[in-house]
Amino acid sequence: MTRVIKVAALAGDGIGPEVVPIAVAVLRTALAEVGAALEVQEALVGGCAIDQAGEPLPEETLAACRAADAVLLGAVGGPQWEDRPMDQRPEKGLLGLRSNLELFANLRPALLFPPLAQASSLKPELVSGLDILIVRELTGGIYFGEPRGIFFEDNERVGVNTYKYAEHEIERIARVAFDLAAKRQGRLCSVDKANVLEATDLWREVVSGLADEYPQVALSHMYVDNAGMQLVRAPKQFDVMVTGNMFGDILSDVAAMLTGSLGMLPSASLAADGFGLYEPVHGSAPDIAGQDAANPLATVLSAAMMCRYSLDLPAVAARIEEAVDGVLRRGLRTADILGGGEQDGMEQIGTKAMGEALLAEIESGAEGAGS
Ligand code: NAD
Repeated sequence: MTRVIKVAALAGDGIGPEVVPIAVAVLRTALAEVGAALEVQEALVGGCAIDQAGEPLPEETLAACRAADAVLLGAVGGPQWEDRPMDQRPEKGLLGLRSNLELFANLRPALLFPPLAQASSLKPELVSGLDILIVRELTGGIYFGEPRGIFFEDNERVGVNTYKYAEHEIERIARVAFDLAAKRQGRLCSVDKANVLEATDLWREVVSGLADEYPQVALSHMYVDNAGMQLVRAPKQFDVMVTGNMFGDILSDVAAMLTGSLGMLPSASLAADGFGLYEPVHGSAPDIAGQDAANPLATVLSAAMMCRYSLDLPAVAARIEEAVDGVLRRGLRTADILGGGEQDGMEQIGTKAMGEALLAEIESGAEGAGS
């Protein structure tokens, strides 16, 4: 019987409606190769939802996400909504999705495609073959801890935020990271600041306490300041890194830049049952929206992550990633990854042409496999 995969597609704003349909088409084609069918439910989120439904996260959108096997999101936001009060901004749609769907584990791979080694700010030999996965806790820590605010104390204002993690929050994110490390190179580095912050002392204790259950994973610990340094000194030493919300926010952006371009970076946000929301790391890029200039590869690679982490179809994920590698090897580039102009057999193409090249790549791979 044909497996039918249900995906909620939330294109959002700016370049979202340009890149999401490409990722959907690539996903549909790659799934068809393994005899699976794709059923897509489109829904509104962000600025377009404010304009068309009066709020950034309409109830129908949440319902569509809950009814799906996974969610594919483009991006939200744009200058036309920036003057609105905080709780009526497009970003509220994204935060609402994370909290309502209990997406506590954020996965940010930093993977360098060999043809793009020159695009990194580090020397090619430091980054070639780079394949790091940062697992960031997404729904706790100092971004959510109470008390928080600006208060009066001794006749002056004091700003307060609270770094707080309960054991169960640490344990569930650590288990996600151990499981992922077990499926990769078997190395997990937990990042904390246990020499200064008691909350992260507990973090280290809880993570260490799980290590015996994962004998196939080599666990190490690193202070966050050193981790930042090591990421730009010798990034290939890392396989999987796990850390709290704030440290993960910072380190994942550092790791991201090792790979060169925002237009190449996918992400996943997972719930406890493997349900996930998949989206490019970049925003809605209003400066290039509607110009057929956006790089769709980050969204396409997000769809590949969906196959790997929510749909249990790693071969389909690999097929999509190979197609991305294939078009890059053929010299096809959107402007953001061209690196200063056409040269050495590279060709600048638009968003749609990149989508067509990917589909052709997948289809030709399937023909090759069959022959
Ligand atoms: P951005 O990521 O949208 O753009 C930063 C720069 O990178 C721009 O010059 C843009 O043209 C370029 N860029 C981004 N994605 C690209 C792609 N796929 N191909 C080629 N170039 C690309 O960040 P920003 O400009 O700070 O924010 C723009 C809007 O997006 C804001 O409203 C912001 O709030 C929102 N935003 C949303 C998300 C999200 O939805 N997850 C994330 C970040 C920013």
